[in-house]
Amino acid sequence: MRNAPLNATKIGAKAFALFTKNQRQWTAKPYEQAEIDAFKQNLADGGFAPEHVLAHDSYLINLGHPEPEAREKSLTAFIDEMSRCAQLGLDRLNFHPGSHLRKISEQECIDNIVASLNTALAEVEGVKAVIENTAGQGSNLGHRFEQIAAIIDGVEDKSRVGVCLDTCHTFTAGYDLRTAEAYAQTMDEFDRLIGFQYLMGMHINDSKPDLGARVDRHHSIGEGKLGMEAFRLIMNDARLDGVPMVLETIDETIWPQEIELLYSLQQAA
Ligand SMILES: [Zn+2]
Repeated sequence: MRNAPLNATKIGAKAFALFTKNQRQWTAKPYEQAEIDAFKQNLADGGFAPEHVLAHDSYLINLGHPEPEAREKSLTAFIDEMSRCAQLGLDRLNFHPGSHLRKISEQECIDNIVASLNTALAEVEGVKAVIENTAGQGSNLGHRFEQIAAIIDGVEDKSRVGVCLDTCHTFTAGYDLRTAEAYAQTMDEFDRLIGFQYLMGMHINDSKPDLGARVDRHHSIGEGKLGMEAFRLIMNDARLDGVPMVLETIDETIWPQEIELLYSLQQAA
């Protein structure tokens, strides 16, 4: 935990993501104060603004779960993760919206997610819930911008909700980014249905599957079906200035080179 800012600096990153605890377990011990202090110190020493750190919740959590008991378990874990963010001085928690597991309708699942979010946001102050768009694999919601807009619409305090766009998920969900025209069309649709004011993070990944495959498989930058032009367009889009961008590409040994590559795509203004 405390080393996350140091590791980010080592690879030349100006933003980074972290799990607030082991992402494959439901519960974890509370942080010790020394751990919190060390993290905050390393964050400040590394020159990172807290809003450039994108915490990610556990993969087990499903705020839209069809069964009340399982949903409650997810909500309890989600509230714990939000509290952990607050303790670390971080202002945003990235999560996957949820899955209906083919047991309830899409709308019922969205209603469950909304109710869970409103409870969590009332419980913990100072942390925004950042909805990640998904590839739409299986019964995962959040692959259509309309679904994300419907969730935001139900959240009572709109200042506490945001969106994280994952480039691989966007593409495999069916939104093209490979040419200037396709990129403009996708981003205009995002702006029209959701709005750039809600964009609070991006996951920068190339994609193994093709456009619209609805399969979630990341690839290294420039190696997949998205290709370099998409990343050049992203790196030169002024609407994304200040939005933390995080790599989730498959070969972490080349993250330093990928970061350098992405920055090299920026044209001098
Ligand atoms: Zn992602």
